[in-house]
Amino acid sequence: MKNCVFCKIVSGEITSEFVYEDDRVVAFYDRAPLTPIHILIIPRLHIPTFNDLQIEHKELAGHLLLVSQEIARQNYLQDKGYRLVMNCGRDAGQEVNHLHFHLLGGQPLGELVR
Ligand code: AMP
Repeated sequence: MKNCVFCKIVSGEITSEFVYEDDRVVAFYDRAPLTPIHILIIPRLHIPTFNDLQIEHKELAGHLLLVSQEIARQNYLQDKGYRLVMNCGRDAGQEVNHLHFHLLGGQPLGELVR
């Protein structure tokens, strides 16, 4: 999708170091981390918001969740705990209209949300 910053990261137009990638999903560090570990996990496919998920995305949605779990494990967060956040729309403060999870961890999170 033209003008989508995350599509540009997926295509390589914007350089980013992937901490995970496969044929459907990529993950990279948030440029403005809120916690010691703050990773964004996104589908390669441009899906603007959670509202736009359709039944044909069912496998992709499940894959995103399992990849998020795996990235948490790779970062040794599974025992300490972490938060997986997805903002949807204006009131949630969604800035980038390309579906993504925030994986937040590495410190007690308390009331912190993103
Ligand atoms: P959200 O408010 O849920 O849409 O979150 C979007 C996140 O994307 C924010 O935490 C931004 O810091 C992050 N972000 C925006 N542009 C980039 C980029 N080029 N590389 C890494 N993270 C980005």
